[in-house]
Amino acid sequence: MDCIFCKIINGEISSYKVFEDDLVFAFLDINPLSKGHTLIIPKKHFVDILDIDNKSLERVAVASKNLAIRYSKKLGAEGFNLRQSSGAIAHQDVFHFHMHLVPRYKNDGIDLNSHHTNQFIEVEEVFEQL
Ligand code: AMP
Ligand code: ZN
Repeated sequence: MDCIFCKIINGEISSYKVFEDDLVFAFLDINPLSKGHTLIIPKKHFVDILDIDNKSLERVAVASKNLAIRYSKKLGAEGFNLRQSSGAIAHQDVFHFHMHLVPRYKNDGIDLNSHHTNQFIEVEEVFEQL
C-alpha cells in the first residue's frame, strides 16, 4: 500500500521520531504550525476515526498526553491543541489516522482555521531539544 505514514513507520521515509512503542509512533510534523507540532499515529494502518480500533485509539491518546507533558517541560509549551481530521471534507490529507498535537505559546498567533504555517520553525533544531 502506498501510504506515506506507513513508510515513515517502517523507515523507508525518514522522520524526526519522538516516541515509539508496540502500537504507536510519533514524529514531528514537517510543516509545523508551532514549535513541537507532532503527529501521533497507530502503527497499524487505519484510515480515520471510523476505522481505528479502540486499543490503538486509546494508546494514541495516552501517547499524546505523555508528549504534552514532555513538551511543557522541555519546550515551555503553555497549552495544547489536539486535533484530528477524518475524511476529505474535514481536510484530512493523509489517509492514515493521525492526531495532531500542537503546542501553544504566549502570543503565538496561530489560527487553527488557516492552513498557513510558520515557516520560521526549524524542525531539526526543535528535535535536538527533546
Ligand atoms: P492532515 O491535513 O490532518 O491530514 O495532516 C497531514 C499532516 O502531515 C500535515 O500537517 C503535514 O505537514 C504532515 N506531513 C506530511 N508529510 C509528512 C512527512 N513526510 N513528515 C512529517 N509530516 C508530514
Ligand atoms: Zn498507512
